[in-house]
Amino acid sequence: MRILIKNVILEKRKVDVLIEGEKISKIGRNLNLKVDEKIDGKEEKAVIPGLINCHTHSAMILLRGLGEDLFLKDWLEKVIWPIEDKLSEDDVYWGTKLAILEMIKSGTTTFNEMYFYPEAQIEATKEMGMRGFLGLVLVDFSTKDCDRKSIEEKFPKLEKILKNSSSIKLTIAPHAIYTVSKENLIWAKNFAKRYKLLIHMHLSETQNEIKESLKKYKMRPVEYLEKIGFLGKNCIFAHSIWLSEKEIEILEKRRCGLVYNPTSNMKLVSGVFRWGKIKNTKINVCLGTDGPASNNSLNLFSEMKIGALLQKIENKNPVAISAKEIFQMATKNGALALKINAGEIKVGKLADLTLIDLNKIEMFPNYDLISNLVYSDAKSCVSDVICNGKILMRDGKIEGEEKILKIAKFKLQNASWRK
Ligand SMILES: [Zn+2]
Repeated sequence: MRILIKNVILEKRKVDVLIEGEKISKIGRNLNLKVDEKIDGKEEKAVIPGLINCHTHSAMILLRGLGEDLFLKDWLEKVIWPIEDKLSEDDVYWGTKLAILEMIKSGTTTFNEMYFYPEAQIEATKEMGMRGFLGLVLVDFSTKDCDRKSIEEKFPKLEKILKNSSSIKLTIAPHAIYTVSKENLIWAKNFAKRYKLLIHMHLSETQNEIKESLKKYKMRPVEYLEKIGFLGKNCIFAHSIWLSEKEIEILEKRRCGLVYNPTSNMKLVSGVFRWGKIKNTKINVCLGTDGPASNNSLNLFSEMKIGALLQKIENKNPVAISAKEIFQMATKNGALALKINAGEIKVGKLADLTLIDLNKIEMFPNYDLISNLVYSDAKSCVSDVICNGKILMRDGKIEGEEKILKIAKFKLQNASWRK
């Protein structure tokens, strides 16, 4: 498949972009080639890398609007976990499809997922054409096959399903240190090593987690993970809010990736990510929305805005973070964390791109595109989305969108857990 994008603006220059197979193969002026698909930006569209959501729980879109205005502990224990217990594989399939619709509409091309029923997620992700890192969740008290034995049994079967897929990968996702025992964490570490997987986990999200860790292990969460030999460059830790200087040093030494989740952290009053300290280290920081029940959105444009504003006020400094820096978290840094050759519009990179309609009022006047994208919330300006060399959205339309919404709404109205 060859796609030619004509007359788009790339960093203030008018260019044509040629996509061959899964990659960007040429960027230049006046490319006139025989291709399968042509998109003409008419100098009215900008091209940016597809956004990368490094921490989410997609199917939680089904729970959006439930359990509002609670702390994390009450939110999880009183509202979320009892309902999740009742969710079926079919619910997760439709939930994931709906979430991907929302992600594509907001210019996202890759998501790093943590939820149960991986078969349902694989099917939904494949059908929607997104690039997905699907985490096999591990918890001690599992009701949804999230235990070691089930994962070991399931893994070869899932790998077989994914044999011909270059855009969907599995990760191992131990939930957190307060839900996964030391033995299980070590097992997960070895499992990841054996199959060369990324590890996706929640870390130091609340002060309570630190308190519990100090009580139980006599040390802070990162010190504990270091002691049991868990940390490595394949670790991606969501939240990572309550970190001491020493813990930051350990995470830097072990080359772990961290995910900033500002909206969820504010909504659940978890705390503020220590960007002021961490930006002076070599730690790679990417961006995530967290699940759409604690955000309540999957829009990385608004996440960039909220994330930047929060750090400015937290550090009492308008230059604490720039639009460019937070845009990089949602693109280049995300790609680095997930170890994919994406996050930039360059020849040889994966063809994950988003086109922005510059005629929309939010993009006017266009003094600085990155500033508009971050501070003016560009979700409504996303016009076309390409992932892995395939067009997922064209002129605001996603194939089969109405049908997905219609079936999902019908199914969900009749779901057992809603009664
Ligand atoms: Zn989470």
